[in-house]
Amino acid sequence: MRFDHRHLLGIEPLRPDEITTILDLAEQYVRFNRGRDKHANALAGLTQINMFFENSTRTQASFELAGKRLGADVMNMSMQASSVKKGETLIDTALTLNAMHPDLLVVRHPHSGAVDLLAQKVNCAVLNAGDGRHEHPTQALLDALTIRRAKGRLHRLTIAICGDIAHSRVARSNLLLLHKMENRIRLIGPETLMPTGIEDFGAEVFADMREGLKGADVVMMLRLQKERMDGGFIPSEREYYHRFGLDAEKLSHAAPDAIVMHPGPMNRGVEIDGTLADDINRSVIQDQVEMGVAVRMAAMDLLARNLRARPSEVMA
Ligand code: ASP
Repeated sequence: MRFDHRHLLGIEPLRPDEITTILDLAEQYVRFNRGRDKHANALAGLTQINMFFENSTRTQASFELAGKRLGADVMNMSMQASSVKKGETLIDTALTLNAMHPDLLVVRHPHSGAVDLLAQKVNCAVLNAGDGRHEHPTQALLDALTIRRAKGRLHRLTIAICGDIAHSRVARSNLLLLHKMENRIRLIGPETLMPTGIEDFGAEVFADMREGLKGADVVMMLRLQKERMDGGFIPSEREYYHRFGLDAEKLSHAAPDAIVMHPGPMNRGVEIDGTLADDINRSVIQDQVEMGVAVRMAAMDLLARNLRARPSEVMA
């Protein structure tokens, strides 16, 4: 198993074989998590601190559970109630935490690049739990595991990513990962929500949902990231749902066995029809949540092996 990284900051630096290594180990943790005894010791003796400067439900809970199941001491910092509110800079917060000798730092931040910056200032392994519109690597990895399990492979699939591409770190990380694994990627959404130059990433761009979905094996829906919008990007939510909301009729243009994905949180009736989201014959949204815990266990396990392999004076 080769995974020579100190941090997990994004999909960009990962090679395809390293992605496969994470997914293969995560597969073992899927089986483990379904068993009765959920205590392992891959992270025993290590301290994991979760620092979320932005709201999170699934990601924070699953990183916490992943750390606890692997035996780490896990601490959740409530950044809302922290000294950040008193004007402390990100770097000062990082240095303060660093002095407490954590081994794993899980960070979510509203600014793109903030997690990379923080990683340069600390001695521990840093995992990016989402930075602005930049990257959300564990989301792309859990999506990849979900696709691989549902489709039996992770290459030569036609994958449609639909909605607010411009503001989505999920779209960006998925695009990078799925491209590395040699899939055909289609981006579907209004022109206002499509970043310029996105074709250079090797994706086809569509403004018509039915056309873009034609024959797709995987349909990945995204939330409108209103918190990252500084103006009106869509006429109205009703109009948006009419053109880009996924319902059974639009889905009928995809492959007959196409799966439906969504990273959550979902806005029913805006980007997806609620009944379709709940249809277990098409939707793998709950599987994504399950894979999230396993993938985070695998990522932290691999980073911890590298931590333990380094001489401890490096960590002094
Ligand atoms: N939960 C995902 C993220 O943090 C997707 C979203 O918020 O829409 O990026």
